[in-house]
Amino acid sequence: MKQLTFIIMSMIILASCGGNSKSEFNYSVDKFADVEILRYQVHNFEQLSLNQKLLIYYLSEAALEGRDILYDQNHKNNLTIRRLLETVYQNYKGDRTSTDFIAFETYLKQVWMGNGIHHHYSEEKFEPAFSQDFLTNAINQVDISLLPLLADENIEQFKTRIFPVIFDANLYPKRLNQEDGADLILTSANNFYEGVTQKEVEAFYAKMVDPNNHTPVAYGLNSKIVKENGQLVEKTYKVGGMYDAAIQRIISWLEKAANIAENDNQKAVIQSLIEFYISGDLKQYDEYSIKWLQDTDSQVDFINGFTESYTDPLGMKATWEALVNFKDLDATKRTEIISRNAQWFEDNSPVDNRFKKDEVKGVSAKVITAAILAGDCYPSTPIGINLPNSNWIRKDYGSKSVTIENITDAYDKASQGSGFMEEFMWSDNEIAQAKEYGSLTNNLHTDLHECLGHGSGKLLPGVSPDALKAYGSPIEEARADLFGLYYMADKKMVDLGLLPDKDAYKAAYYQYIMNGLMTQLTRIQPGKNIEQAHMRNRQLIASWVFDKGTIDNVVELKKRDGKTFVVINDYQKLRDLFGELLAEIQRIKSTGDFEGAKYLIETYAVKVDQKIHTEVLSRYAELNIAPYKGFVNPVYSLVKDKSDNIIDVKVSYDENYIDQNLRYSRDYSVLPYYN
Ligand code: ZN
Repeated sequence: MKQLTFIIMSMIILASCGGNSKSEFNYSVDKFADVEILRYQVHNFEQLSLNQKLLIYYLSEAALEGRDILYDQNHKNNLTIRRLLETVYQNYKGDRTSTDFIAFETYLKQVWMGNGIHHHYSEEKFEPAFSQDFLTNAINQVDISLLPLLADENIEQFKTRIFPVIFDANLYPKRLNQEDGADLILTSANNFYEGVTQKEVEAFYAKMVDPNNHTPVAYGLNSKIVKENGQLVEKTYKVGGMYDAAIQRIISWLEKAANIAENDNQKAVIQSLIEFYISGDLKQYDEYSIKWLQDTDSQVDFINGFTESYTDPLGMKATWEALVNFKDLDATKRTEIISRNAQWFEDNSPVDNRFKKDEVKGVSAKVITAAILAGDCYPSTPIGINLPNSNWIRKDYGSKSVTIENITDAYDKASQGSGFMEEFMWSDNEIAQAKEYGSLTNNLHTDLHECLGHGSGKLLPGVSPDALKAYGSPIEEARADLFGLYYMADKKMVDLGLLPDKDAYKAAYYQYIMNGLMTQLTRIQPGKNIEQAHMRNRQLIASWVFDKGTIDNVVELKKRDGKTFVVINDYQKLRDLFGELLAEIQRIKSTGDFEGAKYLIETYAVKVDQKIHTEVLSRYAELNIAPYKGFVNPVYSLVKDKSDNIIDVKVSYDENYIDQNLRYSRDYSVLPYYN
């Protein structure tokens, strides 16, 4: 599971950093549509050993090789369209400053940001602001052999096939559709299923699931479902199967990495992943996951594979992602304190004892420095990750949780002086609080969310982990957030030395409610509802406590000069409400109460208050801040001596967003147009 940043937290201005910035590092790289592209710094890379640097290099190559897999998973025409756009972009001989061309460039940048033709967050298809005529003229300038045409297709047929996918807003409007009542598979444009209905798929997997199996594999995780001769069949992502060419390249880099692993455990982890890529066997995947979570000694670590299922409306199919990182030894002391006390947190949580774990196993938590982001972690990236996702593995073996601090750091640095807090916070008091404790409580909340929240609680015997269906993701995220929020205000935080002051938590509370009730709506188009799991979870929590706290006036929306502000009147009662909701959500999860989940989500998490929304959008527009952030990666290069021995790995930060994506498409693209 991933923790995405709540944008407000990234708007924090550290008082001491204003004015004379000590570093010359240029965090902001590009800005287009609703996106700002940032750069992150790989702190202390130079201090790693040559072997560790080389390991990062090989794992980074393995990470970048999976890029096309994600494009194809997101939508079946994505690779064709990306290749078309890039070819035109590189060969266009007309006026590159014309309105049409600029709009075309923006669209291409959006496609890179979404890893396809849909928005990475809102799931909606991008609307090109250039004309069909422009694209036709541009295509006519290009050598036809460079275009992604099918074998016996001419250019007119190609256009007839592909133009509607780009220009017709009614065709494939959403990558992921979660509208209650619709056939979620037929109405979602992602490429996990083709020619099959939701009912057929549900029946297909229902037959596989054995309710008495205590160690069920993640059915369907690594395959596409199609219909052949009237029968549903899985096309598995593996060597010799779907995505073969890319997977083979990934394996070749993983083999190099295994040879120079930091220790035998890590070597076994990498080899186990290779075996999974070869067999596609989900039992093997579980074996790999267990080995992976148990490797806590290595400093260098990675994620590489079919991991998160947010894009599948049924929550089964996983998108490909990769992250290479190394432990931040100093900052990890913080998460180690949390981990060591995991049992205390479990025992003292406000949830019903029936739903608590008797023994919290191996919650390992660390703060990491990201070295490369890829697949579904690029260009948009999480700030925390907790894996594996398998419930029985988490129960029997625990999980590994990370907070990605150099990414949070880049968010903070890039947003200095945006004016956001001044616009949306009630008074100087809240602003001062945020400046002093915002960054700290933000990181701590991520730690608590990842290494305690997701790992806490248990399902009652016989309850299926998929019982909540499409409501499962936002409910799970709400559970993890609430666990963090509840404990943030606990005296234990100060006792453990995690917070310097018993009131520091107020910074996090205020920002969470303000974000959930108001400012996260900057990410929603006028008139639209909330779709994304993390956003649903935040609105659920904020509007539930707002609603339940009405009698005691715990949280208020106050007007000043025609503008709406969040005011928190009673922080202690707010904490109690967080505890109450946590108990209810844990009950829903533990008992598999689908109706309960549906009620909470549909009542509190989906619908947007139109008046507030309009107001927030117009106030936000004045600030001119991009609501979404993406990243470019650093570039790693091998340094060799005269006899061709590798003597160092250099990291550089000068590649821009366009060059990076074009290079990736040139160097890491081996899949056919259709898979
Ligand atoms: Zn999470």
